[in-house]
Amino acid sequence: MSKIKVTDLHKQYADNHVLRGVDLEVKDNEVVVIIGPSGSGKSTLLRTLNKLEEPTSGSVVVHGTDIAKKGVDIDKVREQIGMVFQHFNLFNNLSVGKNIMLAPVELGKLSKEDAVKQAKKLLQVVGLENKFDASVSSLSGGQKQRVAIARALAMNPDIMLFDEPTSALDPEMVGDVLNVMKKLAKEKGMTMVVVTHEMGFAKEVADRVVFVDDGIIQEEGTPDEIFNHPKNDRLKSFLSKIL
Ligand code: ADP
Ligand code: MG
Repeated sequence: MSKIKVTDLHKQYADNHVLRGVDLEVKDNEVVVIIGPSGSGKSTLLRTLNKLEEPTSGSVVVHGTDIAKKGVDIDKVREQIGMVFQHFNLFNNLSVGKNIMLAPVELGKLSKEDAVKQAKKLLQVVGLENKFDASVSSLSGGQKQRVAIARALAMNPDIMLFDEPTSALDPEMVGDVLNVMKKLAKEKGMTMVVVTHEMGFAKEVADRVVFVDDGIIQEEGTPDEIFNHPKNDRLKSFLSKIL
């Protein structure tokens, strides 16, 4: 079953035609990794999947609802889609536990007591069980990103979007974050769309790799097809620069 179906998606910022006709389908339990050069439209594409960006035209059907249409209850859609950003976007003035509890309590999804229990459980999932009371500012970048993942999971989403979640981290922190993501994919069967430059992760975890360049999907396929048998010239050139 398809969880996300993007059809002929265009996005223009003034005369900058950033997405020029993207078709993308993400199925239940699938891990789709998006790769491509900087400025090619990867973040824009990801952000249209939960309406952080409005498409100029095209449709973005998530759980059967076209969220590109006006009048869609986007809060409802977003409750089911967690997003993790490059720069964490945590509340630095709140404790780790409060960051994770905030959305479910504010939106009336959980009582405070249940939110505490859930936050502690999620901290276990991301390997930070001792950090419930810690202040965000005391954490390393890798720890912050794992808290950000726990916070996204607190709304019990059934799709997770990741936009270069390890790009701002020191190299020694990257593995811990990727391992949490791997666990979500393999153990929890989470449906995930991940923009990353971590090709090892793409090879190991992706069901499908999508190469975006110049605002369109130039090629997509299994990790083996994309990394070992690329057909598109832009993809070949991209891979020759990064591998
Ligand atoms: P990527 O994530 O692949 O690096 P982006 O999707 O961030 O690429 O950006 C693609 C293009 O869209 C770039 O030219 C960027 O300058 C432009 N862009 C992105 N966001 C905005 C915005 N909010 N306003 C204007 N231009 C934007
Ligand atoms: Mg980006």
